[in-house]
Amino acid sequence: MARLVMKFGGTSVGTVERIKNVARKVKREVDAGHEVAVVVSAMAGDTNRLVDLVSDISSLHDAREYDVVVSSGEQVSVGLLSLALQDLGISARSWLGWQVPVNTNAVHSAARIENIDCSEIIKRFADNQVAVCAGFQGVGTDNRITTLGRGGSDTSAVALAAALEADRCDIYTDVDGIYTADPRIATKAAKLDKITYEEMLELASLGAKVLQTRSVEMAMKHRVKLQVLSSFEDLPGTLVVDEEDIVEHQVVSGVTYTRDEAKVTLQQVADRPGVAALVFGALADANVNVDMIVQNVSEDGQATDLTFTVGQKEINQAMDVLEKLKGEVACKAIVPDSNVVKVSIVGMGMRSHAGVAKTMFAALAEKGINIQVISTSEIKVSVLLAEEYTELAVRTLHTAFGLDAA
Ligand code: ADP
Ligand code: ASP
Ligand code: MG
Repeated sequence: MARLVMKFGGTSVGTVERIKNVARKVKREVDAGHEVAVVVSAMAGDTNRLVDLVSDISSLHDAREYDVVVSSGEQVSVGLLSLALQDLGISARSWLGWQVPVNTNAVHSAARIENIDCSEIIKRFADNQVAVCAGFQGVGTDNRITTLGRGGSDTSAVALAAALEADRCDIYTDVDGIYTADPRIATKAAKLDKITYEEMLELASLGAKVLQTRSVEMAMKHRVKLQVLSSFEDLPGTLVVDEEDIVEHQVVSGVTYTRDEAKVTLQQVADRPGVAALVFGALADANVNVDMIVQNVSEDGQATDLTFTVGQKEINQAMDVLEKLKGEVACKAIVPDSNVVKVSIVGMGMRSHAGVAKTMFAALAEKGINIQVISTSEIKVSVLLAEEYTELAVRTLHTAFGLDAA
């Protein structure tokens, strides 16, 4: 007998027929004698619809009320799945975030789970009852409903698996595993049997939305056995594992992209000590996160361009901060550009291989793609490109690093 957490995403519970399909999958595990907690997302499209309702009603929305509205999609799906399970003769009960409870901090719309008290759920396992838990939601220290950020049901599932000391956390979704690139844009993407926590963490934080970044962080910390697999086909999925569990590391395991960043260039800023500290200090004070940074040395050594990226959603706020500094840094112009994409390659093998960046830059150059900003870390290289090159760049790099499926 094992203890399992099974998580189903929006597409997997998108229709009544699909919810019945999920119920059959859960029944199979119950019939095999396992203790099962299920975590579900809202039905496909529901959360987007709820987010739109909030924006339509008020541009200055209050994050506490946003959470009340957008968390409601999951209330529908837990109720429906519990009914579908009962229909198959399985004892099942729905649990909203506050009922478990899933305790979070009070950062509404992007809350972090602090602890989960699953004693009642465990008690009911003894009576063969399945717990059907709402993903995405918790209860804050202010005693109000919170949500965990978009894609947060993955984190709900992993956190519950950690709290329950589950034998496995299976993330059922609309693809049959983790691929070397988003299969929706890279037609030659190949399914991975295994990937390390470290690589998946980089891929997720660099844009691969198959798992929410925080869920991978949490799985890594609590050593949760995580698998991503299909809701629709009975196929083995991808296991997220420790570094030691992979014998031979690929130089590059995956290519990913995000359109969530925007670029800002301060043209001809004074080339003197303290300018960078001033610019990035002011942005930090305004809570604007800066990601990639490049500073060019100008030919006359007098003034230089300073380019960096911030979150697409924070660009207006960043521009307000920078306009105020314009005189002090004596720059000629401040130029924002939202028409950019960050494309990244990720792989553990990069640590011991030279020439990875060179291969990346050469492959992009061959297609005439200009690189605007570069950033690297131990197991990744990211480049900022004009947005129209997204698909071409992902496919080109996928081929250049030998990832194309046979
Ligand atoms: P769910 O609703 O089940 O949580 P998501 O839409 O959040 O599903 O995540 C699954 C999607 O992630 C896939 O449909 C796929 O387009 C996308 N994706 C992005 N990168 C990858 C990748 N490297 N491997 C697999 N899927 C990926
Ligand atoms: N329903 C939420 C969302 O769409 C949470 C999730 O699906 O993981 O972001
Ligand atoms: Mg998701």
